[in-house]
Amino acid sequence: MSKDVKLEDIVSLCKRRGFIFQGSEVYGGLAGTWDYGPLGVALKKNIMDLWWKMFVSDRDDMYGVDAAILMNKKVWEASGHTATFTDPLVECSNCHGRFRADKLDDANKCPTCGKEGTFGEARAFNMMFKTNVGPVEDENSISYLRPETAQGIFTNFKNVVDTFYPDMPFGIAQQGKGFRNEISPRDFIFRDREFEMMEIEYFVHPDKWQESFEHWVEQTKAFFTALGLPADNVHELEVEQADLAHYSKRTVDFEYDFPIGKEELSGLAYRTDFDLGNIQNASGKSMEYRPKDGGEVFVPHVIEPSFGVERAVMAVLTAAYWNDEANERIVLKLPAHLAPVKVAVCPLAKNNEALVAKAREVYDMLRKEFGEVMYIDSGNIGKNYRKMDEIGVPYVVTVDFESLEGDTKDTVTVRHRDTTDQERIEVAKLVQGLKTSTFSL
Ligand code: ATP
Repeated sequence: MSKDVKLEDIVSLCKRRGFIFQGSEVYGGLAGTWDYGPLGVALKKNIMDLWWKMFVSDRDDMYGVDAAILMNKKVWEASGHTATFTDPLVECSNCHGRFRADKLDDANKCPTCGKEGTFGEARAFNMMFKTNVGPVEDENSISYLRPETAQGIFTNFKNVVDTFYPDMPFGIAQQGKGFRNEISPRDFIFRDREFEMMEIEYFVHPDKWQESFEHWVEQTKAFFTALGLPADNVHELEVEQADLAHYSKRTVDFEYDFPIGKEELSGLAYRTDFDLGNIQNASGKSMEYRPKDGGEVFVPHVIEPSFGVERAVMAVLTAAYWNDEANERIVLKLPAHLAPVKVAVCPLAKNNEALVAKAREVYDMLRKEFGEVMYIDSGNIGKNYRKMDEIGVPYVVTVDFESLEGDTKDTVTVRHRDTTDQERIEVAKLVQGLKTSTFSL
């Protein structure tokens, strides 16, 4: 299904149906920023909530935090970001276009003006957005918009240990915005300058990192399955020793078959005690953990599963997008638990009082039960179905004249998104039916 999906199809559907818009669109846009509309924000939230449920609420070894985006600049000095969070930048001497050297198709040819041999030496471009905190702009007031949420976890390691004293191994999780001044933001929401992350630091005894690493490989795959991503389209890339970041002893990148090709969806890294060690050195505060069984104190090592929300949204949309040519419709086959709207209720005619009253009654009942329910009475029923298919609504409930009288009084039809099958069901059995039917809401 997702193999034939083109990026333009997804971009166009997202705009047409109110999922995602260019940031600051009305003023001509701001490169690398995107705004989520009513359906996009619901989809994104469902993805983030699922992650939180799987990795925090459903486990007893995980602790959530929500750290400030602005942090003391010492955080970024100690972590190495100030010195090394860079991408190689080249500039064309002819048209002055600037590009990320390692992402050029042809390292010798400018992709904008087409001239060859116009690039000089690449220079290291730091991707952190710099700002000043407070009314004085000087060296001391410098701060950065965080380029990752991970450091907000490490800086709270001691707080969590002191307040909860968890058993080892345990993890701290955080979701929130990250900012990177990417040289070339591109490919819709794939590479942005402002995006959302979901990260875990899982603290382990140095001797036990391997088993936790394997655990998180499996957990990452389980999350992708829960997102409805076909396993065949998810690839594990064992990063070669020579390509590992200096702090990592092992990294697996999870790649996905996006419409733009096979690209990184999330990362999993064994970061040793690099981060806690740096904090300990820079702050002078101990980051050691004292085992409850009286064993020797140690600075924990860390396994880091790191997920980008935008890439998860894009993967979910790619997997769900279906051009159902036989029925001349576009369908988002979203898993029901991710669908922004779970059920739509539709009266067959909008100018019949009894019909509308019945439809409203059904709508109120479903809304109480499923929350995200849409009432739709514009256009003809066929058009309504198509609209609902495009935004991935698993069921459309139609209240028709048969719902009002005779043997079929107090029944409605339920139309299934993927098959277009319709069944008549008693209103009294509707909630239970939807809960246990194909998509089990
Ligand atoms: P890339 O190589 O694609 O630049 P990265 O290796 O720098 O990514 P990490 O630092 O490992 O990425 O970030 C963790 C996750 O955050 C990535 O797997 C990705 O899902 C997401 N991510 C990183 N940069 C961006 C971005 N500019 N826009 C959207 N998501 C991003």
